[in-house]
Amino acid sequence: MTDGSCIFCKIIAGEAAASIVYRDDHVLAFMDISPVVEGHVLVIPTHHTADLAGVTDDVGARMFALGRRVAAALRASGLPCEGINLFLADGVAAGQTVFHSHLHVIPRVRGDGLGFRHGLGRGRMSRLELDELAARLAGRL
Ligand code: 5GP
Ligand code: ZN
Repeated sequence: MTDGSCIFCKIIAGEAAASIVYRDDHVLAFMDISPVVEGHVLVIPTHHTADLAGVTDDVGARMFALGRRVAAALRASGLPCEGINLFLADGVAAGQTVFHSHLHVIPRVRGDGLGFRHGLGRGRMSRLELDELAARLAGRL
């Protein structure tokens, strides 16, 4: 399935230029055109799906496996890379701007200044609160 208005589908079809790192029938990895740091790679499914809910377990596993391989390649590449972030924005509120689901693979070095703007620092929650949240989610899996 493809979406004619989707830039990533155009890249898959060869109708838009991209610097391809890897491709097979299920997944494609290519360089981000506006990288947050040099070496920023995107991993996408080759079938259009806007959001994470539409990514099948099989394709999700393939995306993660390719993300791991790209991470290893980045570490071996000679580019500045002391660590890796895998990042996926699902939905506008999460920062998604291209609605063909994709996994970011981002090389990191200490002090590069990247990070969640507001951090994750909500302080420790009580076990009761955490158990309630866990149960709420567990009941919906
Ligand atoms: P999002 O914000 O949706 O998680 O990430 C979208 C990413 O796609 C951004 O990092 C952006 O730079 C990248 N991007 C958008 N358009 C293009 C394009 O035409 N080619 C490539 N290679 N990357 C793109
Ligand atoms: Zn698409």
